[in-house]
Parts: sequence; structure tokens; C-alpha cells
Amino acid sequence: MDQASINALRALDVTPRGHFINGAFCASETGAQHQVLSPIDGLPLAQIAEGSPTDVDTAVRAARVAFEDGRWSRMAPAARKKVLLKLGDLIEAHALEIAVLGVRDNGTEINMAYKAEALSAAATFRYYAEVIDKVYGQIAPTSHDVLGLVHHAPVGVVGAIVPWNFPLMIGSWKIAPALAAGNSVVLKPAESASLSLLKIAELAAEAGVPDGVFNVVTGRGAVVGEALALSMDVDIMVFTGSGATGRRLLEYSARSNLKRCYLELGGKSPNIIFADAPDLAEAAKISAAGIFRNSGQVCVAGSRLLVQHEIFEDFVAEITLHAESFRVGDPLELNSQIGAVHSLPELEANLDFVTQAEAEGAERRTGGTRILTETGGYYMAPTVMTGVKQSDNLFQNEVFGPVLAVTPFKDEDEAIRLANATEYGLAAGVWTANLSRAHRMVAGIRAGVVHVNTYGGADLTVPLGGVGQSGNGHDKSLHALDKYFDLKTAWIKI
Ligand code: NAD
Repeated sequence: MDQASINALRALDVTPRGHFINGAFCASETGAQHQVLSPIDGLPLAQIAEGSPTDVDTAVRAARVAFEDGRWSRMAPAARKKVLLKLGDLIEAHALEIAVLGVRDNGTEINMAYKAEALSAAATFRYYAEVIDKVYGQIAPTSHDVLGLVHHAPVGVVGAIVPWNFPLMIGSWKIAPALAAGNSVVLKPAESASLSLLKIAELAAEAGVPDGVFNVVTGRGAVVGEALALSMDVDIMVFTGSGATGRRLLEYSARSNLKRCYLELGGKSPNIIFADAPDLAEAAKISAAGIFRNSGQVCVAGSRLLVQHEIFEDFVAEITLHAESFRVGDPLELNSQIGAVHSLPELEANLDFVTQAEAEGAERRTGGTRILTETGGYYMAPTVMTGVKQSDNLFQNEVFGPVLAVTPFKDEDEAIRLANATEYGLAAGVWTANLSRAHRMVAGIRAGVVHVNTYGGADLTVPLGGVGQSGNGHDKSLHALDKYFDLKTAWIKI
């Protein structure tokens, strides 16, 4: 990856050719389009098809026909594996193009997007491709005159809805295991970040995924997402996004066919620094990256920093220095360490959080402002707020922006109490040299993942999912496959 190649891709026309349904691009049946702005400069980037409920029905029908006739669902797992491995290779071959495409509509810094979006998507397709011809059913321990077989049957049509932060990484976490298991998929990307996923649909067809098996319908959540989640012919929904939308999906399920909904939602993750951390300078550096990279638009961002009293002032000073030293700027410049906030409404919401926190008595140590306004893009200075109390909005609610809330604690008990004092339970960090304490903290913190002496960076081999109002499902690892199968028993009299 070099700057000249990125610059060459920067100017490409990226207007997509509509939805991807039944193996081909097509316009919305209404002909409507939706304007996408680039967070890099605030200028119009592309028109995408504004989907309608009829478009969703067309895609779901194509997915159902493909599933029922077995063109993919009854293909030998080893043959599906071959196709998905090829898709992984095609994604890798187009990695820079895909990464730049994604950055232009979502604003993530390219040096992160290249790995976390494009290369990680390639790796995800390969991982589930490699797994799928190693999944066995079971023989039940029955009496000798019957045979009880437990089959893993694909569920049918999977509806997937993904957000604008890391659309490709998160999309692949759902599409790859769903397809590997033999299902058909209808995907709805976020209306403001659809481009890279449309490219994946094109590459999937090139790799040999049959027509109708993988479909993408673009457009608004309240129209396309709602129609998908209300469809009587979608068997399960897999979703990543906000808690508010997650709740709606459960309602849609209740109002339609009781489809299972797997929800990956937000977080307000505590990152806990004990005075006995093995390397406080390293802890400050990694913790700063853990909240500020991608402008804090990371579901597992360590957005609540809990610092033990005796090191509080020194640690805050250190992390504030890191916050101020990040190079925020054009996400397509290789030397930018932090790119753009995704949209103007997101940026304004971030700034509102800071204003409200100050009104509640918090102190702004750095940041809290929009910067680089001359670019027309949406950039925000990394922000550190101290004096944030448990009852404050900034302690309790997800900003999804580059705003760190810092709170002191006395001892282990108080650290666990504060860590668990929100409705969320997605991720956490603990920094200590005391191994027993590390294990007690892992056991005591309510979260899907607890990092010890590091923050973030878990790979595909381990599940990611939340507890509490951070969700009820898991992406990644072998465990993610479970939701894409129904268990089916054959009870055979011998
Ligand atoms: P969002 O809920 O607004 O949107 C997510 C998706 O849902 C988009 O595609 C959107 O169009 C769609 N949608 C919106 N309204 C809908 C409706 N009524 N019916 C159906 N679909 C609808 O969330 P967002 O702002 O795009 O994403 C940010 C959120 O996602 C944050 O809370 C973040 O923490 C969370 N997130 C969680 C994880 C995780 O793994 N747990 C990962 C990334 C992001």
C-alpha cells in the first residue's frame, strides 16, 4: 500500500449500479436514489439505489428460490469451500480498491481500513470456508432398536443488517458463516456505507456463488431494514447496530414469523488501570488507541477509563498527551492516524455529549471541538473528560465518537462495581501485574470480552458478542456458525 496507489483510486467514479439481486445489479423498482456524502470533505460522493419493500420482496424471493432448489444449500460443503476460498482470494486481490472505496463513504483511516476491513474480510471468508467441511452431525446414545441422528441443517434465508462502522468486516462476519453453512443471504448495508459491500457481491458472483444466493438491497433502515425484518420468508435476522434498532427487530419478529434475531449492539466499555500495571506508559498508549482510533467509532472502544486514585493525575496527563499527539486528518492520507467522523449528525451528537458532560460538572482536559473545518469534512479532536460521575450521561451512554470519560476508583471492589454500573456489557480492559487480580477481574466484569494488559485486537478465533444490552449473539470463531444451522433430528426405528 503506497500513497500514489491510494491517490489513483481516490478519484474513481464509485457510483454503484443499484441493488445486487439474483446475480445482477438492478435499479430500485421506484427508480429512487439516495445521495451519499463523503465524510472526508462533506461533498456528494455517489447516488445509491433507495430500496423499497418491493425490492426487498424480490431479493427475498430470489434467495428463497435459490435455497429451495439446492443450487448452494445442497452443494457439497467441500465445493462451497472452494468457492468461498476463491472469494477470499478475490477480496485480497482487490484489497486496496475495496479499502479506499469503503473509506470514501465511511471515513475510517486507510491504514486501519486496509487491514480491518479488506484483509480481514478476505481472512473471514477463508476461515469459514476452511471450517465448513469439518462440521459433523451426531449420533444420539439411544437404545439399540432406534437410531437418533442430529443433523445441522441450514436455516434457509438469512436477513443481515449492518452498520456504517467497519461495514465490510462486520458484514463478512455474518455473510461468510451464513453462506458456508449453505444459506441464502439478503444483506442491507447502512445507507451511508454500502459501497464496499456491493463490491463484495460482485466478487462473490465472480467467485462462483450462484445467482440468488447472496443479495444486497441498499436504502434506508426504516424502509429496507424494516421490510426485511418483517418478511415472513426470512428465517433469521443477524444484526449489528444500535440498541434502539435492535429493539425494533425484536418487535418486527414478534409481528411477523417469530424469526430468531441475533443482535450485536453498542457498548460503554470500561478500561481499568491499576497502579500495579506492568507498564503504565504502554497502558496509556494502548488505551488512547483503544478509544481514539477510527474516531472512537468502534463498538468495543474503551470509552470509560477507570484509574486507581494513586496514579490518577499522572495517568490522565499521559493519556491526554497521547490524545493531543494523534494526527487527525484526511483518512486517505497514509500518515493520518485518525480519520473522519462518519457524518455531520454524528459529529454534532459527539459535541453535544461534551457540552452536556461539562454542564454535569465534568472537566474537559483536551479536545471537545470540531477541527479541520476548512476541509469541509467531519473531524473531531480526541477528547478527554475527567470528573465523570456514575450518574452522568457520559458515564452511562455510548457516544460512539472520540470522547473518553475518566473516573477514579479506590480498590478492586470499587473497580468492578463501576465497571458493571451501566446497562451495557460488550468489552472491558484490565491492566495489572497481579495474576490473581486479573483472573478475579475477568470473572467479576460483566462483558463479552475482557482484555488483560492490552486493549482490542482480538482475532477471528475468538467470539465477539455482548451481554446485557450489548446484545445476544456472537460473531467470529466456530461458535458463530451455530446460529446459521437448525438442529434437525432423524429418529429411525431399526
Ligand atoms: P443503527 O442501529 O442506526 O443502524 C444499523 C443498521 O440498522 C443500518 O443498516 C440501518 O440502516 C439499520 N436500521 C436503522 N433503522 C432500522 C429499522 N427501523 N429497521 C431495520 N433496520 C434499521 O446503528 P449505527 O448508527 O449504524 O451503528 C452504530 C451502532 O452499532 C453503535 O451503537 C455501535 O456500538 C454498534 N456496533 C456494535 C458492534 C458489535 O459487534 N456489538 C459492532 C459495530 C457497531
